Amino acid sequence: MAGVSQGLVSKWERGRDSPSEAELRMLEVAFGESPPAPGTAKAEPAKLQYRGRWLILDVQAGPVAQIEIHCRSKFHVVVPEALEDLARLLEAIRAAFADWLRNRAERDLFRFGRHHQARLGVEAKAFRLSQAKRRWGSCGRDGVIRVHWRLIQAPRVAMEYVVAHELAHLVHRNHSPAFWLKLAETMPEWAKAKELLERWERQVS
Ligand SMILES: [Zn+2]
Repeated sequence: MAGVSQGLVSKWERGRDSPSEAELRMLEVAFGESPPAPGTAKAEPAKLQYRGRWLILDVQAGPVAQIEIHCRSKFHVVVPEALEDLARLLEAIRAAFADWLRNRAERDLFRFGRHHQARLGVEAKAFRLSQAKRRWGSCGRDGVIRVHWRLIQAPRVAMEYVVAHELAHLVHRNHSPAFWLKLAETMPEWAKAKELLERWERQVS
């Protein structure tokens, strides 16, 4: 935490082209997590988790009107040169990532939803992202499937499992043997996926 508070009080100096690693670590804090502790004292670059992988944040100032996020093997973040105030800059990057991650989560949710509902012979009323406190997904009485947006940070198959699981509840509203058989129709490897989800959950909680 020492590095983080240091980043908080330090100023983003005029003329510097990117915030420091310590400053960027605030983003990890903003997302309520940090990568596994490094084995050495050497400073690790700031990272954010996306689809189960920790990607380095590479932040540069550039001639853009709004923050741009490009995801390749790293997160390439271009911030407007006019954004000089560190606190505002970090808040703007945090907000841009929140939007970006939600957008990707929505795309995956629809993709997995369409795929598995066709295979299960069911139809959800709608697919929505949630930010529920204690559950990754739910299947409402109204037929609406809700999945937590943070699952975009988990391995892909973990989110896929949650979507398929909730869709199978449209047929069986319980966890009876018949429910698990129904789920296996569309996701034979569901047990492995469930285990990955639980492992990821232990990492982030
Ligand atoms: Zn369930």
